[in-house]
Amino acid sequence: MYLKSIEVQGFKSFATKLHFDFHEGITAIVGPNGSGKSNVADAVRWVLGEQSAKQLRGASMQDVIFAGTENRKPVGFAYVAITFDNSDHVLQTDYSEVTVSRRVYRSGESEYMINKAHCRLKDVNELFYDTGIGKEGYSIIGQGQIEKIINGRPEDRRELFDEAAGIVKFKRRKTEALKE
Ligand code: ATP
Ligand code: MG
Repeated sequence: MYLKSIEVQGFKSFATKLHFDFHEGITAIVGPNGSGKSNVADAVRWVLGEQSAKQLRGASMQDVIFAGTENRKPVGFAYVAITFDNSDHVLQTDYSEVTVSRRVYRSGESEYMINKAHCRLKDVNELFYDTGIGKEGYSIIGQGQIEKIINGRPEDRRELFDEAAGIVKFKRRKTEALKE
């Protein structure tokens, strides 16, 4: 499985629709300060269900919507879609390509989709449990995160091993089952 492409529209500094293609192997994003490199990583985090404005370097969740510049008007919604090549079926679905998208309007109304079908955030989370992908996976290593792991509480560090061992999914399901 690998990240094939990202589409953004109205997300942070990306006012108009923009498509990034990735290939197997390493891709580096380079550019001057403030040109939107970190916004690309934020887009990935966001579409995978990030609920914390702080993690996205904003004050409120609406801050992800393009706020306008001197020559361009603000827009009404933010949209991100990411596509994974799933021909090895690491993601447990029959699809060999999986696209997850999220849209949010200024009213706060928001929607998630998997392969163009509406779904809940929970479905997005379930799809990625134990794959290392996801807002809590370790596929996105932010600044200061390594330090946090090294100096973290043993319980937090245990979570990291659970994720790597692929048992998070079962633990979450157990917790849910006990609640019901
Ligand atoms: P650096 O090299 O300094 O890390 P960077 O390339 O990572 O820079 P980003 O942090 O991705 O840059 O982009 C910051 C830019 O995004 C700023 O110019 C900021 O004004 C713009 N930006 C962030 N949110 C919005 C928004 N909602 N609307 C418009 N522009 C935004
Ligand atoms: Mg940056």
